[in-house]
Amino acid sequence: MWFRNVDTVGFTPDCVDLSIDSCNLVHMSTTSSSTSLHSSAHGTDVAQPPAGTVLQGIPAVAGVQYAPVIRPGSRPHVDDAPTGSDIEESDRPGEVSRFTAAAAAVADRLRERAANASGAASEVLATTAQLAQDRAWIAATEKRIGDGNPAVRAVTGAVDQFVTMFTQLGGLMAERVTDLRDIRDRVIAELNGLPEPGVPVPTVPSILCAEDLAPVDTAGLDASLVVALATTLGGPTSHTAIIARQLGIPCVVAVDGLDAVAAGTMIMVDGSVGTVTVSPDEAVATQAVEVARGEADLAKSWNGPGATADGHVVAILANVQDGAAARSARETPAEGIGLFRTELCFLNRSTEPSVDEQAQIYGDVLDAFDGCKVVIRTLDAGSDKPLKFVGHPDEANPALGVRGIRIALGNPGILTRQLEGIAAAAKKTGHAPWVMAPMIATPAEAEAFATETRAHGLVPGVMIEIPAAALLADRILEHVDFLSIGTNDLTQYTMAADRMSAELATLTDPWQPAVLALIAMTAKAGVAVGKPVGVCGEAAADPQLACVLVGLGVSSLSAAAAAVSAVGAKLSQVTLAQCRQAADAALATATAADARAAASAVLA
Ligand code: PEP
Ligand code: MG
Repeated sequence: MWFRNVDTVGFTPDCVDLSIDSCNLVHMSTTSSSTSLHSSAHGTDVAQPPAGTVLQGIPAVAGVQYAPVIRPGSRPHVDDAPTGSDIEESDRPGEVSRFTAAAAAVADRLRERAANASGAASEVLATTAQLAQDRAWIAATEKRIGDGNPAVRAVTGAVDQFVTMFTQLGGLMAERVTDLRDIRDRVIAELNGLPEPGVPVPTVPSILCAEDLAPVDTAGLDASLVVALATTLGGPTSHTAIIARQLGIPCVVAVDGLDAVAAGTMIMVDGSVGTVTVSPDEAVATQAVEVARGEADLAKSWNGPGATADGHVVAILANVQDGAAARSARETPAEGIGLFRTELCFLNRSTEPSVDEQAQIYGDVLDAFDGCKVVIRTLDAGSDKPLKFVGHPDEANPALGVRGIRIALGNPGILTRQLEGIAAAAKKTGHAPWVMAPMIATPAEAEAFATETRAHGLVPGVMIEIPAAALLADRILEHVDFLSIGTNDLTQYTMAADRMSAELATLTDPWQPAVLALIAMTAKAGVAVGKPVGVCGEAAADPQLACVLVGLGVSSLSAAAAAVSAVGAKLSQVTLAQCRQAADAALATATAADARAAASAVLA
């Protein structure tokens, strides 16, 4: 999952067995040389890629920057097999106090930085401070000291234990591994009387490159000095991406080969297409930066409503997860909400919220977009977003398991009560929301959902996230009033590639022509019967791809609020004929990179 919810950050998710142990310790050091053979982030000698090499990653925040590389300062060396003698029993209480004082000092410093920061940066720092004082890991470390381990070894072992668990849990929890290692490094530095590890303050505008960035590393960054971010690991939902978005600087994650690029090398980061170019031609890079800056300025001055340059209307909507997000989306030119992810309101709930409570929460979102289109999605629980009160079965393959609408199979009351809550919110606010179901695979599922939704006086639609549903979109449309294409899952299931996997980023690219073909099929089915077909996956946040989607026939685009202006502005610059031509050109290719290039040639 690509969102961040601070309340899910902790050492002990309920499903975790604290007895798991591990010895997967890591080595970390820094790159410092600018010669052609230098030390990588793993401490091995690597050859600097030749000038002009284009490294591919995942686009996280749009924009282009050209500047020298800086890398974070060194972290404490963590041994593969920590040795050394155990401490005497009589010294153990003192060692425990030394550890708790170190953890408290780290947490205090983070809290102080949180108090001096704002927005997401402050939230990230405060959450990391909370993590440094987490009871489960403090107890696990104290126990190891009690068994005779010196504090540094105990810290390393305890954090490693949780790293293993989180990695096994995958999804959202696996993305917290960097946070855990960051806490470990800070506490060890404190125990050893060393300065806290972190990002150096550059003297000239620079691009920060790292294997991955801890939240606290990115939270205090000065956007005038760190002008872009690139990481070898991480996903589009990692803290790096979130903070980059807040700072308004381009960001690319999961960049293959980035470790080999030495500090001091001039690079160009293109956060729109997800590339890092090593030592590019200076004139070309400078011009690309200028063009990107012009597009950003244009986006700032775009006020909607969504339409192509020749007046073809396309609603530009926002994706939200609660009332606060909806109110902040209202500050953008978004014309409504294309996706309200209701499950995100309940991630930390152990009991099902009552119908009244649900009505209150949904009403809050409807109020923010009074008189506008709002599409509420019923609970998409399961896989990387389990809800405790749903009682998910233990599954070997949860992405293909009981998730989305499938939870209603074993527990139909949850859907019924949610529809009651939405209907009550609609009545109270005088709003007529559209309601859609996630993870629909068959026309029969769509029909059953539509019947129940209509019985509550609501307008039914379904998401197209499974290739089977795209292939039968015409038959699904016999039952519902609209479709919304979830390109994140549609790409995952079309390419049989986990959307959270950094290694499979080339496959999980919505520009894949196979994915575009399924979108084309779905949109065509909608046009044929005059019913709206929108896109609410991340594909709608990419301005070029958004134009292609319009060319394929979709009638609305819904994306993160931060992407709304850039998408609307780009669309306003091109004609419907150009969009159609770009769509045809992309559909005719065989790779995501060629599709992107073919569309850009038409839309530039
Ligand atoms: C999608 O799959 O594209 C989508 C919008 O749903 P989510 O990202 O919440 O799974
Ligand atoms: Mg989905």
